[in-house]
Amino acid sequence: MTTVTLNGTRGSGPAPMTGQQQETLDNKIQKAAEQIAAEGKAGFYHHLEAYAMADVINLIDRKETEELYQQLKANIPVYGGNTTSYTIKTDNVTLVVDAGTGLRSEGAPASSEPIHIALTHTHRDHLDGFDIWGPIYFAPITIYGRRNNGKYLEETLHDLFSDDKWPVDPFTVNPNTKIKEIDDEGIIEIGDLKVEYKHSDKSFHPLHGITSYKITTPENAKIVIMTDIELNGKSDKELASLEAFAHDADMLLIDAQYTPEEYAMKKGQGHTTYDVAVEFARKAGVKNTILTHHDPTHDDFDIWKKEQLANQYLEKIGRPEDMTMACAYDGMRVDL
Ligand SMILES: [Zn+2]
Ligand SMILES: [Zn+2]
Repeated sequence: MTTVTLNGTRGSGPAPMTGQQQETLDNKIQKAAEQIAAEGKAGFYHHLEAYAMADVINLIDRKETEELYQQLKANIPVYGGNTTSYTIKTDNVTLVVDAGTGLRSEGAPASSEPIHIALTHTHRDHLDGFDIWGPIYFAPITIYGRRNNGKYLEETLHDLFSDDKWPVDPFTVNPNTKIKEIDDEGIIEIGDLKVEYKHSDKSFHPLHGITSYKITTPENAKIVIMTDIELNGKSDKELASLEAFAHDADMLLIDAQYTPEEYAMKKGQGHTTYDVAVEFARKAGVKNTILTHHDPTHDDFDIWKKEQLANQYLEKIGRPEDMTMACAYDGMRVDL
């Protein structure tokens, strides 16, 4: 079995929950649990559904309420604030795409097989997890990524840890790190995963463009990762090769950082609106679409709302029978 875990799903910068937000959330969960217990209901899965139910509170049996509260608290998918990092794990290999702060939840390699890390690009929100991730200092790690306008990937990675920025350079102290440059397009076999990659130019993401990945699992499932990509305003011709790349994916992780209203102010910053992401996924015939790279200014409610609006939009343009759509959250896990 192959498992995909989304360790970090924020874009542009981390967005940790403040103490006040946590308190508000705790209160809302408490109220929702009381409400559910009062109505004898169970099984809703999202704390934001609970928000809607929490208007009228009927206090009931304390013990039952407390049990439900604990249960809810353990299961609420708060979206989280870590930046981009996804893990694809098969029985014999671990491939991580991007090294944002979500990387810190990835453990050390369990065998002598290295952890493979493929980079979409070298913006900070996709690299900031390296310094806070223990295994980078000792474990066997192989990193893949593209050279930026003549600057070697190795140089970019060392720059992150120059002595004015960080006390130790893991790429110098760890003799088990390998850095492998990839071209604009190609295929690499990593363990039992087939990894195809495709570069889109700077009109899709400033200033060096972006690499998208298509990973085929041993079960023949296709996972496509297209983050930090601006699909808005592109012609059918420009989108055709990307649609072909994502065609029939079982799972597409796609940038949907903005609402159409926000995009008016963010044009050219290299990110897509949820409606354009929905159109793209539908046209490419994707089964399970996960919207990701959430804006750091968005709170849980904004992201939840984006998920509702994306689904409404998909209904409007015609949802294929087997197509699902959800917003990514830190810790989300999909078995393929
Ligand atoms: Zn980013
Ligand atoms: Zn970026």
